[in-house]
Amino acid sequence: MKNNITRNIENIYIHLPFCQKKCFYCSFPVHAIGKNKQDNEHFDNIQQTYLKYIKQEIVQTNIMLFKHHNQIWQKKPLKSIYFGGGTPSLFQPEYIKEILNLIQSEGFFIQDDTEITMECDPGTFDAEKIQFYEELKINRISLGIQSFNDKILQNLNRPQNAQTNYEAIQILKNSAKFKYLSNVSIDLIMNQPQMTCSKDKNNLSINLNEVDQIWDQDLEQVVQLKPGHISIYSLAIEPGSYFYEKNNFREGQFPLPSDERAADNFIKTHQKLSPIYNHYEISSYVRSDLNQPKHNPIYWEGNKDFLAFGMGASSLLNYRRYTRPKTVTRYYEYVEQLNKNPNFYLENGEDESDIQSQIESILMGRLRTFQGLDLLDIKNSYGEDIYNIICNKIEMLLLKSPYLIFQNQRYLKLKCPEGYLVCDDIVAEISYHLQKKIFRNKNK
Ligand code: SF4
Repeated sequence: MKNNITRNIENIYIHLPFCQKKCFYCSFPVHAIGKNKQDNEHFDNIQQTYLKYIKQEIVQTNIMLFKHHNQIWQKKPLKSIYFGGGTPSLFQPEYIKEILNLIQSEGFFIQDDTEITMECDPGTFDAEKIQFYEELKINRISLGIQSFNDKILQNLNRPQNAQTNYEAIQILKNSAKFKYLSNVSIDLIMNQPQMTCSKDKNNLSINLNEVDQIWDQDLEQVVQLKPGHISIYSLAIEPGSYFYEKNNFREGQFPLPSDERAADNFIKTHQKLSPIYNHYEISSYVRSDLNQPKHNPIYWEGNKDFLAFGMGASSLLNYRRYTRPKTVTRYYEYVEQLNKNPNFYLENGEDESDIQSQIESILMGRLRTFQGLDLLDIKNSYGEDIYNIICNKIEMLLLKSPYLIFQNQRYLKLKCPEGYLVCDDIVAEISYHLQKKIFRNKNK
């Protein structure tokens, strides 16, 4: 791999981990504060402490990268800042302002075209808060709707109901006249379990047909609303989530839909949305170029540097991943260490710099997208031998996979939508082949 002499930072992720309660499918690093607690003094104290530490982390990272290692790292005008969580819209907007001001005073350039995204959950913001976001030049909201159906929302242990969802959408519709806050993305979850998971005895059971019907209604509803961007995730059952640990749910097994049924849902969803939306990434649909996000695509590039701050957040810097501790207490200890020794940060990364990991990450990221991968990038970065090994494997795969497209020995992509369903398999086959060849060449 030819290493660049200097590397640029253009994208920042800020993790704000507070949620009202933990959703049953959630395996993210979150800190639940309890429902209706967002305005109480105790939560304000918690936020102030978190704010203090995240600000220290930003300052120390700035010293470490751009003063101690400024021969490598350079700041460029920021393309994106993403407030993710958790539920960032629970965080006081005044404190968001402090974070943005600090980012600027530390020498990062926020411009009018810097995309600033705020993940928001219905029931955690009002018109006044949205007006404040506009004043902060936050220009994109990612709204966690997940479903328009009360039973499904209860089943997922979401803090909101369908009515709260509609109220949140109405508040955002009124912001359409704003100068900055013009982009809204809606998140939905498909492939719900066909049984009642809620502890609420009044929640009636759901059978498979009803789950399917509700999904049709959710899709119809989102089409009517016409947001600029839609993210549709299949319900993932990850270790650490309530569904995994307490309900023993596993993807593809009852009460979740079978793999075949989940694949049918994926195709059905594509068919419903594609007349209006461009299905540009496995889980993402965009209505026009104006609604195309800038932040999420950095993850799909697979090798793009970005800075992240906050509990549980991961940065990727020069093929090393730096992940902070996943509880607030341990995160605060981590920042204390950083205050004593800013290089503590660089000493704790996970190395992803071997060729195998790099290429796997690039393939996995780019084959998720409609654009796919330009293999000339691989040739230029990793040399002719690696390029030839990959091309040979692609030629073999083309004989058995009708969903792989390879143009001019250069552009590799998956046929949309069917190809997206085999993305993991294709990446695994190419990676395995590459690993075997690299290993054999090393031992020659
Ligand atoms: S709102 Fe999001 S981050 Fe918070 S518990 Fe639910 S899924 Fe997790």
